[in-house]
Amino acid sequence: MPEGPEIHIEADSIRKAIGGSTCRYIQFYHEHLKPFEKELSEKKVESVEAYGKGLVISFEGDTHIFSHNQLYGKWYITTAGNYPKTSRSLRLEIQNDHKSALLYSASDIDVMDGDSIKEHPYLSSIGPDVIRMEDVEPVLEQATSKTFRNRSFSALLLDQHFLAGVGNYLRSEILFHAGIHPSLKPSDLDDKKMIQFAKSALLISHRAYENKGITNDEENVAAAKKEGLTRRHYRHFVFGRDEKPCYVCGNEIIKERMGGRRIYICEGCQNG
Ligand SMILES: [Zn+2]
Repeated sequence: MPEGPEIHIEADSIRKAIGGSTCRYIQFYHEHLKPFEKELSEKKVESVEAYGKGLVISFEGDTHIFSHNQLYGKWYITTAGNYPKTSRSLRLEIQNDHKSALLYSASDIDVMDGDSIKEHPYLSSIGPDVIRMEDVEPVLEQATSKTFRNRSFSALLLDQHFLAGVGNYLRSEILFHAGIHPSLKPSDLDDKKMIQFAKSALLISHRAYENKGITNDEENVAAAKKEGLTRRHYRHFVFGRDEKPCYVCGNEIIKERMGGRRIYICEGCQNG
């Protein structure tokens, strides 16, 4: 499933394609949304924003399209009126004079006015967005709150109410970078370690956003490239690297299942 960084990258490319311009053609493929086609065509796309794993496209006239990719949804940008070769089902099409933004396979699409979008069940319940955050305060507030402080990091980092946009690969990578074992809870940490967690949560998420999903250190990536290794090998510190040596201590990375999802741990580095 795409995580926060991927959704924000998607939002950037949709914004570049159709943001600030007039929508010439729009089509919904869900029957109940068809009445909005007339309302939204010839209206300007005012903004395209990601919130956690959700996306909001706002039109002139205070009308907003919410979409959530779930497991299979995917956006494509094409030259206006063209379609990619894919066996996926088209769900939404927004076209201006130059480009088409096409959403395939997503089933979670709503059209709402400004007041109702604020109360959208997903948008109104998610925690602070790790990509939008500029300082660690909101992470510290969440982690020390009654709601979250006694739950394991492995569970918290899959819960969009805790930090929006974190998903499975970021969970492993953030905890490795912070040196925290996933079975620990925020209440197990001292202040110094808690601040380290918050810093790692932001740094790793922002790095993934800026580097198209790469969370590993620049030096490790450069060294791996020199050896002729491919992205799959150097993209992450630990995620997907079970039985490989840790970049920092050389211990073998182990793979476990926590919260029903795979997680990768270096027990040499994540011991506190
Ligand atoms: Zn290690």
